[in-house]
Amino acid sequence: MFLFLRDEKNHSLLEDKMLRVFVLSCSHGNGSEDKKRVVSGGQFGQNKKAKFSKETSYNRFFLVADLESPPNCAAIMTRTIDESLRLLSILTGGPFVGEPFMVYEPGPAMTTLGEYTPILKVENSPFLPLKDPSGQLKSTEGSMVLPSNVGQTNYFVLTGKKIALSKVKLAPFQTCLGIQCDRQKSNVKGGCTCLHATSSSSLVYQCNVTFEVPKKVDASGQVTVLDFCSLKTTRLFFRNFDTFVNRYSMNDLRMSNQSVRKHWSDAMQYINENDGWTLIGWFMLGDHADAANSHDKVQNFQTTVHLTSLQPTNIGVLKTEEFLKACIDDKTFTTVQTAAQIVINSDGTRNGNGDGALSTPTAMNSNGNDETASV
Ligand SMILES: [Zn+2]
Repeated sequence: MFLFLRDEKNHSLLEDKMLRVFVLSCSHGNGSEDKKRVVSGGQFGQNKKAKFSKETSYNRFFLVADLESPPNCAAIMTRTIDESLRLLSILTGGPFVGEPFMVYEPGPAMTTLGEYTPILKVENSPFLPLKDPSGQLKSTEGSMVLPSNVGQTNYFVLTGKKIALSKVKLAPFQTCLGIQCDRQKSNVKGGCTCLHATSSSSLVYQCNVTFEVPKKVDASGQVTVLDFCSLKTTRLFFRNFDTFVNRYSMNDLRMSNQSVRKHWSDAMQYINENDGWTLIGWFMLGDHADAANSHDKVQNFQTTVHLTSLQPTNIGVLKTEEFLKACIDDKTFTTVQTAAQIVINSDGTRNGNGDGALSTPTAMNSNGNDETASV
């Protein structure tokens, strides 16, 4: 199961060729710890003990799926802001995480991240958006397999799947103001990769996503990804997410979880019954730096599943009357109750069900981030 890109005899085949990649995650590479994970120089296979490069440092790390040879992944690492700008030059502020791209004539992959993830050289090619992105995403269910070596990363694409969403809520941390990173990561140091701010709000919803996988991947036949957070996925459930977040105070939004969940559940169900969902993500085994999130470093021999993208398999479903009815209309949406409507009784109990937001005012802010509503 060795990667096409890593086989030297295939390098001439990359001449004048486009390579289709899918951006699974992107993050800052900012620590010395990241540097030493770059194995540099020489051939693969016979040179597994290649020494760590002391010189190599980089600005951003992109984990990409190699769409030509599932389930293999590769890395693109830019060393300077200029390189990042060149790579992203065609994109105009939209999210690139979760999007398939072409890169033109990648150079031979002579270095790896860890032992298994080849680093693509695409100095002369920006990410080129595809005209019909969803058409590029073929199910890899047949080749869906857990990585067999520590440090290996395998991606997957599942199409037409029924899913279950739970614990839908506002992301409890402040994300960046940009949208390029799709707000998948919190605004902790090294978390965000946006080159510039592109929005006046940093809000995004998160939820747990349960979906079926082949039994060889998980004996129970399903896996759950916790706290999946994506601006693109969030937008699916709103007629206009931007006006929605501007219309309500943070308190109202926090208290309206129940109404929001009802809409998400209805909309999810509608898509479940109408061509299903396309899920893209990756598995990582063992002590591999998931540079997307420093907290995700996994101790040996445990496999974690990550989700990058969740969207309807048939995008046309989003335009149907029924779906629009299910999703949240900022003009008619009512929060369960506003703070003003909550009455504290003389015995200290509260009338109404505020979904716990007022009784735990600091719970959403436990990481110390300064969270402000955009009103
Ligand atoms: Zn960002």
